[in-house]
Amino acid sequence: MVLNKPLNITISIDDINPLKGWGAEGDIQMTYLEDLNKEFGAKFTLFIPSNWHKQAPLSKHKDWVDWLKSKDYFELAAHGHYHQCERNNIGQCEFFELDTTEKAKDRINLILKEWEAVGHKPEGWRNPGWLGNPVAIKELGKHFKYAAIHYEHNRNNKWLCKTFYGADGINITDIKVHNDNMIMFQSHIAGDWNDNVWNKSNYNQMRLSLEYFSKMNVEFKTLKECL
Ligand SMILES: [Zn+2]
Repeated sequence: MVLNKPLNITISIDDINPLKGWGAEGDIQMTYLEDLNKEFGAKFTLFIPSNWHKQAPLSKHKDWVDWLKSKDYFELAAHGHYHQCERNNIGQCEFFELDTTEKAKDRINLILKEWEAVGHKPEGWRNPGWLGNPVAIKELGKHFKYAAIHYEHNRNNKWLCKTFYGADGINITDIKVHNDNMIMFQSHIAGDWNDNVWNKSNYNQMRLSLEYFSKMNVEFKTLKECL
């Protein structure tokens, strides 16, 4: 790969929340992230549901949010509210289920309230489970500066905000350039149903990938810094 201008290396992490094993202080995944920052200067965009599975409202975990914010290599972005659906046949695609403007507005208000309670305004968004209802997407675009989306799962929806494409798992080696000059590593903090979680072997693979890229003309950035 020959590069004329710096390539932006971004790494996003979905589903991170204050519960033990999901990004709490002392969790092994958080040590991995810190190590990659120390070794390469890696930065991370954290996509955080504001009340994961109705068990972790951010307003009750301000210490955790403050701890994340104390690290300059994290961007805190929004990733749904409950990350859960009422219907049981659409996985955790919360904003796919919200099929009226009113429902979407109400849920977005809950999200913004939780973030406001901890004194942070997230600029980025990613749909839980990637899918979004067109009416919900229209509302989301009014509240966030950018959305991180998937080529197929976005289903040609038009966003009112900027969009970043890409979903190359931290566990894979076939990495492509997206959005003109961006590498878009994507991952989940944990979860039995994902293969791009922050376990030991994926951490090792990520180290190798970053070692490879760090020899090139690259800059490590959060998604917000790519706006
Ligand atoms: Zn998610």
